[in-house]
Amino acid sequence: MADDQAASRTILVVGGGISGLTAAVEAAEVGHTVLLVEREPQLGGRVSQHFQYFPKLCSPSCGLEINYQRVKNNPRIRVLTLAEVEAISGQEGDFTVRIRQHPRFVTEKCTACGECSKACTTMVANPFNFGMDQVKAIRNSHPMAYPNCYFMDAEYARSAEARTLPCPVGAIDPDMQATVLEEHVGSIVWATGWRPYDAEKIQPYGFGRHVNVSTNMRFERLANSYGPTSGRLLRPSDGKEVKKIAFIQCAGSRDHNHLPFCSRVCCLASMKQATYVREQYPDAQVTIYYIDLRAMDRYEGFQKKVEADPGITWIKSKPARIDEDPASKDPIVIGENTLTGIRYADSYDMVVLATGMEPTSATTARVPGHSAAYDEYGFVVKGGQVLSSGCAASPLDVAGAVQASTAVALKAIQAAAKRG
Ligand SMILES: Cc1cc2nc3c(=O)[nH]c(=O)nc-3n(C[C@H](O)[C@H](O)[C@H](O)COP(=O)(O)OP(=O)(O)OC[C@H]3O[C@@H](n4cnc5c(N)ncnc54)[C@H](O)[C@@H]3O)c2cc1C
Repeated sequence: MADDQAASRTILVVGGGISGLTAAVEAAEVGHTVLLVEREPQLGGRVSQHFQYFPKLCSPSCGLEINYQRVKNNPRIRVLTLAEVEAISGQEGDFTVRIRQHPRFVTEKCTACGECSKACTTMVANPFNFGMDQVKAIRNSHPMAYPNCYFMDAEYARSAEARTLPCPVGAIDPDMQATVLEEHVGSIVWATGWRPYDAEKIQPYGFGRHVNVSTNMRFERLANSYGPTSGRLLRPSDGKEVKKIAFIQCAGSRDHNHLPFCSRVCCLASMKQATYVREQYPDAQVTIYYIDLRAMDRYEGFQKKVEADPGITWIKSKPARIDEDPASKDPIVIGENTLTGIRYADSYDMVVLATGMEPTSATTARVPGHSAAYDEYGFVVKGGQVLSSGCAASPLDVAGAVQASTAVALKAIQAAAKRG
């Protein structure tokens, strides 16, 4: 094969979070064709669910928007949403992949005018807000969604109402079927990211049993103006303002019964979330229970700033358990202060578990076939035929994920040029 043909081989990027987006645009902007495959109806991954970014406490939507524009303006990038890779064969320089694209039931003609959603009478639990509220069965996940095209839940597509929904441009198609594509690509970047560790597995902390015990990712949605409480920090049991709150670090992390590793971002995420509370309710009291605080390198300044807030108390301790007051539904955090040896049983309006990042490649996003190498936790590492980037490779903050994915784009270009 001629060198110019080798250089034009497509790079497949699986996962359209910040890591996959970065790898895709970096490779495409130096002239390579890229196929970007995302399982959800929209790009953006977990970052699109965050309220603010540490350390600057700005909105993640502007950074994502810049990347969406780069994707939109680059004809070399083809995006497939609601799609998954089912099979991989071949080797670097010459892979064949089978991709299944699930039906969206709304075509690309959609202008996101929202008329269909207004007419829809079926409500479903909102997966984007972790089921904390209800949404229409035909919708956009959030106002900043890209592609800005509605989608319909599969079950609703079978209903009689789905056939009667208004659409000024005729974009609704409840008969849409799944399609299977076969593509030839030169290299593959696995960027399927992470999912929040299942807090119900941390039995003594009562998540799922105690209504006012939440998790850090749920708290991101709670703080967001498009979240279940329109950004007001209200506790689930009675809608009371959250004025006394605790964050429990390493909930299910650095623990051989759960995730044995440190996710690197949870301490910073709790510090950031403490600022959400203090900003919204200046008289609120925040307590952070920690084993040790991990805010490396440039984040130390952010930690110092948060530590200077007199409304935030730091207790070095891994709480033993959380009980619930049956009348008030207040969670009661029970344990022993490691520094003083004093036992405590402190009640709060709400408790947030700082759960870690589990690689999806360990469970729901395994690389098909035998083309990947994994470490003991399920992260995709060097040694296989498939490259990995971002949190599919290691727990990372956004800056780290972007840096790693830029480097992986170069590796993907080199791998694609290998003779098949
Ligand atoms: C509570 C919390 C708060 C945080 N706050 C910050 C912060 O303020 N600042 C910061 O820098 N970092 C923060 N982080 C870290 C940040 O979320 C990650 O760095 C970032 O999400 C990594 O992006 P990613 O693209 O690697 O993974 P993801 O965001 O998980 O994206 C992966 C993408 O792959 C898709 N996917 C999954 N499986 C498949 C499949 N089989 N096929 C196709 N697509 C698939 C997913 O749908 C998703 O779109 C926080 C983390 C937590 C836990």
